[in-house]
Amino acid sequence: REPLLQVSNLKRYYGGSSSWLRAGRTIKAVEDVSFFVRPGETFGVVGESGCGKTTTGRMIVGLDRPTAGSINFAGEELTTLSAEEWRIRRRKMQMIFQNPLSALDPRMTIRRQIREPLDLHDIGIPNERDAKVEELLDAVSLQPAMADRYPHQISGGQAQRAVIARALGLDPDLVVCDEPVSALDLSVQARVTALLQDLQERRGMAYVFISHDLRIVKKLSHRVAVMYLGQIVEVGDTDDVYRQPLHPYTRALIAAIPDMAPNHRSKRTTLQGDPPSPAAPPSGCHFHTRCHMARESCAREAPVLREIGGAHQVRCHFAEEFAS
Ligand code: SF4
Repeated sequence: REPLLQVSNLKRYYGGSSSWLRAGRTIKAVEDVSFFVRPGETFGVVGESGCGKTTTGRMIVGLDRPTAGSINFAGEELTTLSAEEWRIRRRKMQMIFQNPLSALDPRMTIRRQIREPLDLHDIGIPNERDAKVEELLDAVSLQPAMADRYPHQISGGQAQRAVIARALGLDPDLVVCDEPVSALDLSVQARVTALLQDLQERRGMAYVFISHDLRIVKKLSHRVAVMYLGQIVEVGDTDDVYRQPLHPYTRALIAAIPDMAPNHRSKRTTLQGDPPSPAAPPSGCHFHTRCHMARESCAREAPVLREIGGAHQVRCHFAEEFAS
């Protein structure tokens, strides 16, 4: 099927001579990122904090403007739109954030907050909108009585359901979910994750699912990208990437999860230290300072993202060594 979203050579740089950063410093938060998302599928984006995954999500929904590159949504280029045109298109693309309480206004009831985008976009008949709010609450398994509560009167899991209900009101084709369950208790996480899956099956929405949690991404995603210091280092069908990770970074991330990848875990795959600052990324392959496979050429020559069998792409000079 044709992609719903096609992101090409997306870049987001901060800094330069006029910025608050030290003169001449440029942070490449997102560096030449390309991927596509088909209608109704979940595209997972994983990586440690600071890898550029949230900035990528924010650019897709227009909350941050790219330095360069293209975002094509449903056949239309978004990067050249005016702010007003963006506002209209945004209806079909929603974003859900990690902390639901910060996404809700503490002074407004849940009813008002779910109704507000319906009013703003003039969706449905005005005197039927309260009924629509209750229908949306029902879709996320919240009691109608929740409508008259304020955010501080409900739990974190209920608040995230309310945020999802508000997004659903606009009938989006794509929802960017940025760590949507990370702030919730484990049992609540499972319920909200199941809700997202159920809504996708019933409504056919596509998700870009951003998370540092490889277990949840495996459960939800049809395809997955692994990001490191602003770049995609591996991308492919979720089954392929988890069964046979080909980038040393992906291998280390998966090996760190108990019971997930006993067949390729070894002491040599342990990830050491924190990622370097994006303000001063290592030369050549950005991962060479933490890579147990690094060779002398890795600090000099930057690898490109290339296909290693089918749709599986890897950014490593020596990825073939792990392919069977
Ligand atoms: Fe490691 Fe070299 Fe591959 Fe980079 S290119 S991931 S440093 S082996």
